[in-house]
Amino acid sequence: MREMEFDGIVIGGGPNGLTTAGYLAKAGLKVAVLERRYEIGGGLATENLLLPGMLVDSHAIYHMMVDYAPPIRDFEFETKYDLQWIYPDLQMVMPFQDGSALALYKDPEKTAQSIRQFSEKDAESFLNFAKISQEAMGLFLAPASYVNPMPSLEQVAKLETHPTTKWDDELTGYTPKQIVDAWFENDKVRTLFLYCATMWGLDYDLEGLGYLVPLMMNRAYHFRLSHMGSHHLAHLFGKFISENGSRVISGCEIKRIVVENNEAKGVELKDGRIIKANKFVCSALNPHQTFYDYVGKEYLPPEMVTRLDQWEYSSMSFFTVHTALTEKPHFKIFDKHPELEDALIYVVGYECEQDLVDHFEASKRGELHDGGFNCCFPSIHDPIRVHRRPDSFVKHIGLMTMECAPYNLKDGGGLGWNKMRRPYAERCKAILEKYAPNMNKNTIVWDYIGTPLDTENKFPDMKQGCFKQGAYLPLQMGYMRPNEFCCQHDTPIKKLYVGGSSTHSGGMITFGPGFNAAEKIAADLGVKKWWPEPRGVKEARDLGLF
Ligand SMILES: Cc1cc2nc3c(=O)[nH]c(=O)nc-3n(C[C@H](O)[C@H](O)[C@H](O)COP(=O)(O)OP(=O)(O)OC[C@H]3O[C@@H](n4cnc5c(N)ncnc54)[C@H](O)[C@@H]3O)c2cc1C
Repeated sequence: MREMEFDGIVIGGGPNGLTTAGYLAKAGLKVAVLERRYEIGGGLATENLLLPGMLVDSHAIYHMMVDYAPPIRDFEFETKYDLQWIYPDLQMVMPFQDGSALALYKDPEKTAQSIRQFSEKDAESFLNFAKISQEAMGLFLAPASYVNPMPSLEQVAKLETHPTTKWDDELTGYTPKQIVDAWFENDKVRTLFLYCATMWGLDYDLEGLGYLVPLMMNRAYHFRLSHMGSHHLAHLFGKFISENGSRVISGCEIKRIVVENNEAKGVELKDGRIIKANKFVCSALNPHQTFYDYVGKEYLPPEMVTRLDQWEYSSMSFFTVHTALTEKPHFKIFDKHPELEDALIYVVGYECEQDLVDHFEASKRGELHDGGFNCCFPSIHDPIRVHRRPDSFVKHIGLMTMECAPYNLKDGGGLGWNKMRRPYAERCKAILEKYAPNMNKNTIVWDYIGTPLDTENKFPDMKQGCFKQGAYLPLQMGYMRPNEFCCQHDTPIKKLYVGGSSTHSGGMITFGPGFNAAEKIAADLGVKKWWPEPRGVKEARDLGLF
């Protein structure tokens, strides 16, 4: 059996693994990225899941940290390669059945105009909230995604030294709902902002992570689409890695991480091949895969096993319905508000804040609720996503994404989705039709349904469909992510590192965990860093916030 040998191995070719590999490859190390699927990218997937010639972003579609994420700039994707972003001015619209609507624009002043129809006071509150959140983003929240975390008490003491970060830190003890309700009086305005605060899996009722609400709300009007689909970005990462002398190997079934004398030496594949790593192995998988499936409990300190046993996945995930459409949607609100056509996102199904709360609560009980979701029609913004012959009757693609779908159904657990996927998709379509009557069985000619169970089947690291490889809970964030033994991305096993979204700075397409892992590996190996400090990090350090 032929052996292969590299300086380093990265397990998992999602956005984080690709980031770690890219930085270290350009630093001169020979790196192999081992990916289980036939294609790299993990959540950066664009697939032909509808009819031929229709490009569907089957997982991540909204890119929210483009303005901060280091690899976008450091790998010169926009200048040397052909990465282009689509960044609509009108970011999100929440239509209501009474014909009114709230709109979120890139420009907070325009959003305030929209809010003014409902409440003058809330419009002013929004402008204040937007201003202070933007400051908190620039000073701390964004840069903190791209540095390794410090123990919570130490961090809190530092945040106390600046009025803006002190304000943000003081939100920690409140739930997203308490924060939204304290800032806004109008029920519809509260509905929109509670949706924005929770759309990435923060529980509306969870105390201890309130400091994330300004980040979530700020990011809700900074979404971009990647031209030609999210996978184009993964493709560029692959190019960057190979142009810098490293490799991506797909179709890899891993049997174990080879550990000798408490040191990671490489990886054994299921077919018996050994891939040696002379300097490091970095796993971008979830902590149970890395430490239980591939290392073995016997190599770990017992206290760490206790912490790993406590690791929790979210009980809710995304339920998606992708559609092939004969025409663009015509939402009822366009009759009165034509200026709301062609928003990036429409959020339907929530008429009041209580609707959102009821949806969360039903999902916690494992019930499939007729709740709300967001819709996007990517081909309106990026026509290349439907490249069919000109006389094709299929013109557009649509996407419905419900954030709070339970993994374990009351009837049938996770496998219950096999029975419920179709009826639930039809229920979602019926909700959309109430807001956009031309979205009906005549215009929706094909669909593809994605359940939390499907996500888990496709990406075993997203256990229970948990797209952050681990829930956002107070004891699973920052210095505790995934636990105090590996929060700096190194582990008790020499030369073994972790760098997936189960590590700091968490999930979504931020590239934070992958970047932080690369920084740590480079520092430990004494490799010369060719990249600059991420935006805002030096300023935060100078202010004493890190
Ligand atoms: C339906 C859905 C919609 C989403 N929408 C958005 C969005 O709009 N915006 C956003 O920012 N985020 C979104 N996300 C979340 C985002 O996709 C993830 O948080 C992100 O991809 C996590 O990156 P990662 O590199 O840590 O893990 P992953 O992207 O999961 O990458 C891990 C890789 O490891 C591979 N792997 C798993 N097990 C093994 C193994 N044993 N051996 C080798 N390889 C293995 C997987 O195949 C995968 O390629 C969405 C997720 C889902 C599921």
